[in-house]
Amino acid sequence: MRKMAQSIGLAIATALVAGAAGATDWGSFTGPAPGTPAVIGSYSNGCLTGAVALPLDGPGYQVVRPGRLRYFGHPQLIDFVQDFAGALAAEGIGPIAVADLAQPRGGPMTYGHVSHETGLDVDVWFRLDLPRLPQDGREGLDDFSMLDGDTGLLDPELWQPEMARMLQIAASDPRVARIFINPVIKREMCAGDWEDRDFLRRLRAWRGHDGHFHIRLNCPADSPDCQPQTPPPPGDGCGPDLMAWFEPPSAPAPAATPPAPRPAPPPLPAACRQLFDEWTAS
Ligand SMILES: [Zn+2]
Repeated sequence: MRKMAQSIGLAIATALVAGAAGATDWGSFTGPAPGTPAVIGSYSNGCLTGAVALPLDGPGYQVVRPGRLRYFGHPQLIDFVQDFAGALAAEGIGPIAVADLAQPRGGPMTYGHVSHETGLDVDVWFRLDLPRLPQDGREGLDDFSMLDGDTGLLDPELWQPEMARMLQIAASDPRVARIFINPVIKREMCAGDWEDRDFLRRLRAWRGHDGHFHIRLNCPADSPDCQPQTPPPPGDGCGPDLMAWFEPPSAPAPAATPPAPRPAPPPLPAACRQLFDEWTAS
């Protein structure tokens, strides 16, 4: 009787834990879903089947913090990372530090990102000071800001031409939809004397992203259920949109009513929820 009460208690505790994680802990999968590669949903609300693991070491790169198990992606992303790192290595740049891609089956992450859900996003650190390290020597690492903490400007001791070249090579790849970088870094890129400025359009200013840049690929042709993002507007993105980041914030209007609670995240696409149930049913 006592034993039964214990096991019921355990079952309830387990259910509560599962409930707290939305009963769908996408971080619990340790390997990709079988099947052909396919992206379902959007970058910040989706999942993927048939993901591939990026080898933890390769020409021109090393995966950092592999213990997070976020080095999975659509094969097109894996190809891209390897091509990108190879192109940099050919110029003597690297090894680059490749941080999070996606979880083995994509889906929401329990910490760290609101996107990276479909195996089409990858974070690459700006820092180029890391030697090749054994895999267990890469867990405690972190990126660091390229900005001077006092002035908010680029730190000339840290920012090197190789970093601008990394952005140029990545943003010139037709597989890339956009790359998120800090507005200060975008401003630096805009000031560059580039022969061809087309690639600047794919460099989009966003908060944070001063220690790493976030590369996002277009929907692959094999994934009709992949939901693309509206492409960046025409132009190099160096005009008013960028300058707005540097304007002093206007004072918020006095709130007549208390601010609404943060809306709950939208439900995952039905196809992802169905797959999750199938995978966890057995
Ligand atoms: Zn990212």
